[in-house]
Parts: sequence; C-alpha cells; structure tokens
Amino acid sequence: MAQLVYNAIKCLECGNTIVSYYTHDYKKCGCSNHALVDGGLDYGRYGAVDINKIERIGVYDNEPFEKVRQFAFRGGRGKGGTQPLTYTPLCEMNDEWLEAVLEYGGASWHLDLIRKEIQYRKMTKQNTIELLNSEGPILTAKHVSHVQHVGSGMKTSIDFEIKDQFKKTLMIMTKKEIFDFTRGKIDITDSRGRVWNYSTRPGTEKPDLKKLDEFIGVDTTGKIY
Ligand SMILES: [Zn+2]
Repeated sequence: MAQLVYNAIKCLECGNTIVSYYTHDYKKCGCSNHALVDGGLDYGRYGAVDINKIERIGVYDNEPFEKVRQFAFRGGRGKGGTQPLTYTPLCEMNDEWLEAVLEYGGASWHLDLIRKEIQYRKMTKQNTIELLNSEGPILTAKHVSHVQHVGSGMKTSIDFEIKDQFKKTLMIMTKKEIFDFTRGKIDITDSRGRVWNYSTRPGTEKPDLKKLDEFIGVDTTGKIY
C-alpha cells in the first residue's frame, strides 16, 4: 500500500496552504471557510465549511520520485538540535544530513526514501551538458524540474535552463524545444545578441549525439548513432 508522504490542503477562499506534519498536527487556515487538515502521514483528515473550496494536496511514495522528493520531508532542529523544529523537503537536505539520517534510523518507508534520494543524486549529478564548446562552454543546458498544479493534482516535468558563455540564463526550454534546437530547427540568441544555429556548428564543438539525446530524454533504444 502506498505511504502518504505529504498531507496538505489549500483553502481556495484565503489561498493558504496548510500542512499536517505528524499524527496530531491539526492545522486551520484562519479564514471563515475554516479549512482544516489533520492526521499527519498516518491518515489524511481534512474539512471545511465549504468542502468545494479546498484542494487536497496529498503525495504518496509510489508517485514519480522527481515529485516525491519535493514533498516528502524530514523534521529537524539544526545540527546541534537546539533550533526550532522545521521541515525540509528531501531535495533540499544536504548530502551529509541524508547519510546521518540512515545512521539515526526511522520508519522503514522513510529510510527507503532517503536511500532513493541518495541514489537519485548519484544518477543526476550529470545534470548539466555543454551543448556547444569551443575553448570553453558557449551554451550549456541544465535540468530543472517543475511541479505544476493541474486541477486537483500535480504534474512534474523536466525543463532545460539554457545559459550562455557569460553565465547568463537565456531561457527555459521544454524537451521539444531543446530537441528542435539540437536538430537545427530553432535558433538560440545569447545575451550578446549572437544567434546560434546548431546544425551549422562543427561536430568538434558538440557532445556525442547519443549522450545529448539521453540528456534530453529522447528514447534512444534501437537508434543508430
Ligand atoms: Zn481559508
């Protein structure tokens, strides 16, 4: 059975999002709609005067990890354990903290998520690629993930942040856009106004095409490079 890893509701009357972090963590939104959430990760209990004016935000551990890591959290009181209790999403915990949690222990589903996060970081360390390099990077692309609210659910997607050699962010491209760029179908203009067309650049400036396609997320099975 899927484990709840994030239990929140958004009150559509006042716009507040309230999160219940632990079993008897009962939260209210504070407006006349009296939206409430309770139960932490054991049971998702929620309500409001007008139930149609709340949006439930419940995230489970069997959803795509790219999304889970942005919601599943760890409570902590800082390094010495003396600061106020705060909750940090897995994606914002530092490597050292993740390792420390494995030694400290916790619920098995939680430790599984911590291990997944460590694994995820190993896998995505190569999250930047040099699209063009001539005695230094000319254009680079970096994975950026987005969580969008779609109706009552959420959707995660990977986009690509494009930077030029002056480290200026030029744009955020979708998978289709960056694919089209690498096929010479669209150009990129950098912060100095120079226009780059990929297909007119020499191969010596480009990464291996298979590596590039894997970075973009193109299905490379059966393709000949
Ligand atoms: Zn409210």
